[in-house]
Amino acid sequence: MSAALPTVSREIQLASRPLGRPAQENFRIAESGVPELQDGQVLVRNQFMSVDPYMRGRMNDAKSYSAPFRLDAALDGGAAGEVIASRSDAHKVGDVVVHQLGWREYAVVDAAAATPVPAGLAPTSAFLGALGMTGLTAYAGLLKVAEFKAGDVVFVSGAAGAVGSMVGQIAKAMGASRVIGSAGSPDKVARLLDLGFDAAFNYNDAPVLEQLQAAAGEAGIDVYFDNVGGEHLEAALSVLNAGGRVAMCGAISQYNSTEPAAAPRNLAVAIGKQLTLRGFLVGGQRQHAAEFAAKMAVWLRDGTVRYDETIVDGLENAPQAFMDLLDGANTGKMLVRL
Ligand code: NAP
Repeated sequence: MSAALPTVSREIQLASRPLGRPAQENFRIAESGVPELQDGQVLVRNQFMSVDPYMRGRMNDAKSYSAPFRLDAALDGGAAGEVIASRSDAHKVGDVVVHQLGWREYAVVDAAAATPVPAGLAPTSAFLGALGMTGLTAYAGLLKVAEFKAGDVVFVSGAAGAVGSMVGQIAKAMGASRVIGSAGSPDKVARLLDLGFDAAFNYNDAPVLEQLQAAAGEAGIDVYFDNVGGEHLEAALSVLNAGGRVAMCGAISQYNSTEPAAAPRNLAVAIGKQLTLRGFLVGGQRQHAAEFAAKMAVWLRDGTVRYDETIVDGLENAPQAFMDLLDGANTGKMLVRL
């Protein structure tokens, strides 16, 4: 290894576990040594890291679908950056890769755990969003999990966020008869209409049920893509047509809760309406990644799908970016530029 390579990297560690809303005191910035590269590894200088709602669950010391973050150790998650040293034939110096060791400046990554970012298709950041995990979540959740078909009326919550904004636009591209979105501010509602949603409402303005009924009218809804849970899910169950499908993607309204959810109270309507509610994880949808990537590349190129990013600068600001994401400060994908 050349002497010019970094030996120390700044990282964000979990200092304590939050009860309810996370706070700055739950995080600390620290320095740690960069381990020497072994055969089959690459050293990556991270350029972007992703902050994602699921990371809130990993701050708890509770079994969930991904392992809890360890106390006094660096957090991890999606990141993209440039290979600055390589002991692998798979990636050479100068390549840009996506990997799972975010929340730090430099990462020693097993070559097999790094995915190359194709040159020229889109800016690097897009591979953590529209062309990455976020986009695949939207694509597979809508088409494979909810079994969307042309002519369906689709409702998506968290619609101005990273996943939600993709869901609405993919539904339109694939022939939805109507797409309805909900979000938490007037600016976000305006953005949804600009992105081609047929109707959008601010869930803070009035009860979700009332606004969803007004937006759906007589047609009702056929598919609900749930990013929020709680009151949103309850309202959607009421408005879904017979045979309707729900892709249960997330329940962000409950991630900081210390009490069990109060809604939905009407789950039994699923019986009479013969609804399908299916939870899913993007990790279980990787078999659709190539199909998704090919379609999304075309949609981005021809302008069918557009994506927003909210970018925060500086590793030291990553904890605040994460907390702001949970509070809805982002439009589109929330990223930290290192
Ligand atoms: P995101 O939507 O870009 O960001 C989170 C958004 O949630 C915020 O911008 C905020 O927007 C909204 N929000 C926060 N608290 C809320 C509340 N109490 N009620 C309603 N909305 C609230 O994040 P994302 O990465 O695209 O994730 C969206 C959802 O998908 C999350 O639930 C996440 O856990 C889930 N997800 C699941 C998978 C999977 O494999 N199943 C993969 C990726 C993401 P507003 O301003 O509109 O409130």
